[in-house]
Amino acid sequence: MLLERPTEIPSIPLRTTSKSTQPPITKARTKEAIPSRETDKQVPTSATSTPVVGLSGMENVYKPEDFSGMVNQANKKIKALCESVYRYAPLNVAVLEHEILFGNDPVDAKKQLNDLPPLTVQDAKFILDKIDEISNQLCLCLDFLELVRCLHPDSQFRTAAIEATNKFSIVLHELNNDDRLYESMKRIDRDSELMNQLAPLDQHCLQVLKKDMEKYGSVGQLSHHERKHRLIELNSMIGQYVAQFSDIVAHHREELSHEFWPIRSISSSEPMLQHLRKTYPKLFKSDMEQDGNELISVHSSAKKQRDGSLRKVAYIASHCADPRALNVLDELLEARQELALTMNKPSYAHHALQSLMVGSPEKVIRFLDDLSEKIKPQAEKEVSLLRQEKILEEGESCDHTVYAWDFDFYKRACMNRYVSESSVARMSDYLHYKNCLNGIYMVCEKLFKIKMVEVPVKAPESWHDDIIKLELYDTEHDVYLGDLYLDIFYRKGKIGDNSNFCRQAAKTSIGQKTVSVLVHNIQSEYLTMSELLSMFHELGHAIHTFLGRTPYQNLSGTRVSVDWVEMPSQFMEHFAADFRVVSQFAKHHRTGEPLPKKLFDECMFPKKMFRALNVQNQVVYSMLDLMLHMNEHKNLNISTTQLLYRIRAKYHSLPITQNDEIDQLHPISYHGNLLHLTNYASSYYSYLYAKISSDHLWFKKFNSKDDPLDSEAAASLKRAMSYGGSRRESDILMEVLGEEPSPSFFLREFME
Ligand SMILES: [Zn+2]
Repeated sequence: MLLERPTEIPSIPLRTTSKSTQPPITKARTKEAIPSRETDKQVPTSATSTPVVGLSGMENVYKPEDFSGMVNQANKKIKALCESVYRYAPLNVAVLEHEILFGNDPVDAKKQLNDLPPLTVQDAKFILDKIDEISNQLCLCLDFLELVRCLHPDSQFRTAAIEATNKFSIVLHELNNDDRLYESMKRIDRDSELMNQLAPLDQHCLQVLKKDMEKYGSVGQLSHHERKHRLIELNSMIGQYVAQFSDIVAHHREELSHEFWPIRSISSSEPMLQHLRKTYPKLFKSDMEQDGNELISVHSSAKKQRDGSLRKVAYIASHCADPRALNVLDELLEARQELALTMNKPSYAHHALQSLMVGSPEKVIRFLDDLSEKIKPQAEKEVSLLRQEKILEEGESCDHTVYAWDFDFYKRACMNRYVSESSVARMSDYLHYKNCLNGIYMVCEKLFKIKMVEVPVKAPESWHDDIIKLELYDTEHDVYLGDLYLDIFYRKGKIGDNSNFCRQAAKTSIGQKTVSVLVHNIQSEYLTMSELLSMFHELGHAIHTFLGRTPYQNLSGTRVSVDWVEMPSQFMEHFAADFRVVSQFAKHHRTGEPLPKKLFDECMFPKKMFRALNVQNQVVYSMLDLMLHMNEHKNLNISTTQLLYRIRAKYHSLPITQNDEIDQLHPISYHGNLLHLTNYASSYYSYLYAKISSDHLWFKKFNSKDDPLDSEAAASLKRAMSYGGSRRESDILMEVLGEEPSPSFFLREFME
């Protein structure tokens, strides 16, 4: 879609952030507009005539009552911008365009179209600039509102943000279906002479904007009113199914955060369940549901019990979807398939992947098949390690198959031979958050010559006492890049997983700087290794949003293909996993003693030990996401759950079934808990795809250095991020690596 594209891809579920607000296009926002060094605690009123910094740096927006004014103002600007573009696309252009393709008198229509006065280069640039600004206005408002909805602790703010979003989304929807905006771009595209006179950046911007609108599906189809109407309807239905699915999954996750997990999918009269309830009465609980049925729950500690059938019941409880989620998923997939067919594509995956680096579903299948074959021997080795533990524990006569529900239990047994839990706790003593932040500042400075300066947060711009504000400078080019807010600590009611939230994308033509928020859910002042890794991951996204500065906001920062966007972020994780780097900032919080190498290695060990099985999980998720969006379950006339079983059997070494009665009656359906299916919609493979390139870069240019924090080695990546989306992503990737990405570097990690 032209005006709504994912900008941030957090490491767990993807959040499609979108949009935020900004001063009139004539007034460039400068660093001076954000006087951030003093601590002015007075909240200004919105009646002031000069813009004053408000929430998250938004000018003149301080309280819920300001949201609708902000939206109205943006709306006015958008209307004026549209009018200024419409004069280049008179109403009859779209009619003539259609007549040429499908009408009775194409020659005459062509003549009429050719008789229109030709557009000049200035006209073309004007059109592009205005359409980009329309997108900018939408993004500025909607991104800001999304930020408030997810992060503001005050429910009044959140409610007002939701209301304003609902109101403003209608504008977004209408704009994505605006034939005249689209036709103005088509007029440029049709004129090859004019196109040749445009700079490559402008040509690229035109293609991106035009394709994004086409992807939405309804523009340029004037004569097929029914079809156009159906496409608009389908897009709106898809939006509703996605929201319903997320709600059900959120509710289900909430249930699983309690001590007892409901096991709805197994009937209480099932013999094995009855036996277990008798044997372990403390681990089971029975409640009456509103409909009068008995609801059995199992204690979450059942997954750690020696009895395999207990672990299996706990696995079923935590890996079965709410049946409503599966129904909504069916509806969602059906609507997406119809949308694709209406646009003459064989499947939704074909439709969605055409604009990504990989290009087609067939290529993704080849990629995943190939990777799966290559990691299989290592996965088998990992399974035999688990099997040894199982035999040791349960005796030679036990079932030698290692099942999915055995994994965590025997993995822990394996780990305990190498790592003690006290080491993991001791490691956190060296990872006080202030040390880690200093580490991040040091890494950015050494690697990218980006200086991060902590500055006081003014009261009106902050939404919580925890917020830290940084100003970012590129010291190499002497440029102030923008502001980064850190909202890193867990608090109740905070929505959203770890992510970099781009609140305002750069637009250099009007001096608009990047404003981003790094969101984490760190539980204490002392980080775990996993938290440190994810902080570096999101830092990669943040740096990308700041370096990618282009004249068009639609091409800035991480507004790029999803299978490229995860590359810099996964690359940055390497630094958090490298002792040479971590030892430069990890010091004992009390004694200041440097981090011992032995302790670090011990803590990194679990991350490496069952890597192939973890990759198999990712392959299953990716393949399932792809196949469902290729309509494979319908082609094979099976359910989505049956498709999960087939894919799991082919691509994973740990079975999820013993083919007994429970399995047949109550199949696992964890795909119904997977939010990625709604957001990624056939592009989940992106994580593995980008991991190949990031490992390639790391092993080729960084791993062998004494200190991997080498700005010369990082120069090509810095340049690549600075392009934003202004060039083809596959070209950018080739430039960074100097060759096609090869999985051999990724696979090398399995051999170490
Ligand atoms: Zn990410």
